[in-house]
Amino acid sequence: MSLNIEQIRADFPILHQQIYRRPLIYFDNAASTQKPRLVIDAIRHYYEHDNCNIHRGVHYLSVKATEAYEEARKEIQRFINAKSTHEIIFTKGATESLNLVASSFGKRYIQRGDEVITSIMEHHSNFVPWQQMCLERGATLRVLGINEHGELDLDELKDLLNEKTRLIAVTHVSNVLGTINPVKEIVGLAHQHGIPVLLDGAQGVSHLPVDVQDLDCDFYCFSGHKMYAPMGTGVMYGKEKYLEELPPYQLGGEMIKDVYLDHTTFNELPFKFEAGTPNVEGVMGMKAAIAYLQQLGMDNIAAYEERLLKYATEQLSAIEGIKFYGTAPHKASLVSFIIGDIHPYDAGMIIDKMGIAVRTGHHCAMPLMDFLKIPGTVRASFAFYNTMEEVDQLIAAIHKAKAMLT
Ligand code: PLP
Repeated sequence: MSLNIEQIRADFPILHQQIYRRPLIYFDNAASTQKPRLVIDAIRHYYEHDNCNIHRGVHYLSVKATEAYEEARKEIQRFINAKSTHEIIFTKGATESLNLVASSFGKRYIQRGDEVITSIMEHHSNFVPWQQMCLERGATLRVLGINEHGELDLDELKDLLNEKTRLIAVTHVSNVLGTINPVKEIVGLAHQHGIPVLLDGAQGVSHLPVDVQDLDCDFYCFSGHKMYAPMGTGVMYGKEKYLEELPPYQLGGEMIKDVYLDHTTFNELPFKFEAGTPNVEGVMGMKAAIAYLQQLGMDNIAAYEERLLKYATEQLSAIEGIKFYGTAPHKASLVSFIIGDIHPYDAGMIIDKMGIAVRTGHHCAMPLMDFLKIPGTVRASFAFYNTMEEVDQLIAAIHKAKAMLT
């Protein structure tokens, strides 16, 4: 089924505004996606009808809010095909999910001399928590490289794996290069050695159908706001066998079973990892966002975004002096580039004045920028509400930037 883009655009109120007296073109979807009316309405509905703290009350509103919250957990379980709702932990985003795993996994499993493998293409959120945990525990962080297309080097991964490796933490999709990593292959390889794999799914869930049982990954972390859901929402998926073993990340209300003067016993899964009052309104919005995505169909979304990517890549390639970063054949819908000698920041400023939102800079991936020996890139990242005509506008804006800056 092909998507009706005009109808979809009507669902996103924010898209219908003028910026510098031009229609807004939003190509910063890898940073955060816009929200359909359905999601905004779900938040409003929650506050107008159901608002109450959850899990603690016997009264009507508390029970209603709790049921809605736990229903959302079931929706997310189905969305990523987790085995059980016990494996779905609500967080405030991918960053918190990744910190949770790094902290708890580190405490439980990482000893002096152990090794963790990550990659050079990671977002800081899937790099710094592992780096710091390894420093604290006297472990070593091994960093997997990439080839000239921005693909992970799996032969190097085979060489890095050894009896000291305790975990591999890599991204599903690179937020800079767009590369869709061969994560199933990586999981297969790691499991042959009995090593668990964490996938940073922050850029995966919004573009691709994700089935954690099929991938067989041990942890999958993502943010709500990059998948059309509210800010401050996210998920940490973990296989139950690990979550049972890991110590809690934060302590306080909700995550306890019994508290005594000298010790505390912890709640069962998933509540053991959900200390304090959660972002219930956000989770209501996330449930609505998932319903919206499912209605469009993740396969349809992926197919349309691939067409956008192909068109944008072709059009941009015709611009003299453009250099792409990330040319893997298997890519999500974003393009990172530098135009001749023009600093990405200067290009971004001019493109912005044309009403087009692109992101410039290191994209929270400084180790990758150092590896590529560049200060940053211009990144245009697409969503299913973007159009080929908007891509044409970007091309015109780049020509203008070139004319002004060279
Ligand atoms: N991982 C990747 C690949 C990302 O692109 C991002 C955000 O850009 C994150 C993690 C962190 O996500 P958040 O800031 O929503 O926690």
